[in-house]
Formats: sequence, structure tokens, C-alpha cells
Amino acid sequence: MAGFGSSAEPCPCGGERYATCCEPFHLGTALPETAEQLMRSRYSAFSRNLIDYLIETHPSPEPLTERRRALKASNRGVRWTRLRISASEAGGPADLSGTVTFEAHYRQAGQTHVLRECSRFGREGAVAGGRWLYLAAEA
Ligand SMILES: [Zn+2]
Repeated sequence: MAGFGSSAEPCPCGGERYATCCEPFHLGTALPETAEQLMRSRYSAFSRNLIDYLIETHPSPEPLTERRRALKASNRGVRWTRLRISASEAGGPADLSGTVTFEAHYRQAGQTHVLRECSRFGREGAVAGGRWLYLAAEA
């Protein structure tokens, strides 16, 4: 994959440039302002195998070592190829929660797969100004 890891290349989430799209969130130099931005940055983190970012943005009672092991295992051999967001509800700068419905396309073992999910997001501590977190997939 030519240029993989370069900040100048397109963002995995579909943004024009990684450096001005999801990279600042991955580096911790900026926080997503909307639930959709967090969702996009999590997709890009899967694409770049940034396991710690996935853990930081999704609270869970599971032990850290187990979470890291499970995420690494689930992402092994997966090539994330495309993200399509079909709907966003709330999740804006003034909201405390929101949902994002998306399709994430990936290749694994020579097959193309599509993950469809409506993800629920909320602010840390459920307070204004709290960072956006991925909470759960809606049923
Ligand atoms: Zn992006």
C-alpha cells in the first residue's frame, strides 16, 4: 500500500486529507466536536490499527489487556476499504448524545464484508463539554 502512514494522503474515513481530518484526534491534539467526527475517527483508527484510540473512545468494564487482545485479534487480517454514513441524529456540538448509522466495508480472507450499524454516542460524564465516546451499537 503506497504511502500508507503519510499525513498527506486521503483520510481512511473518506476525508480529503488524513492530516486535517482524523489525524489530530488520533494524535490527541484535538477532540471531535461531533459524534459523527468521533465515529469517523474510530473507523480510521480501525483502518490504521490504532488500538489504544479505540479503547480510549469506548468505555468498557472489561480489563484493559483483554480488550487490547480482543481488538487486535478482531482487526487482524482486515483491510477497511470504505465508510459510508447514511444518517446522523443529534450528536452536535450542543448535544449530549447522538447516533450515527453507517456502513463500513472491509476485506478479510479474500472476501468483501459490510458492517452495518447504528452507533450510539454520548459525552463523557453526560455533561456539556465532555469528550465524545462511543457507547454501544443500537439493537
Ligand atoms: Zn477522517
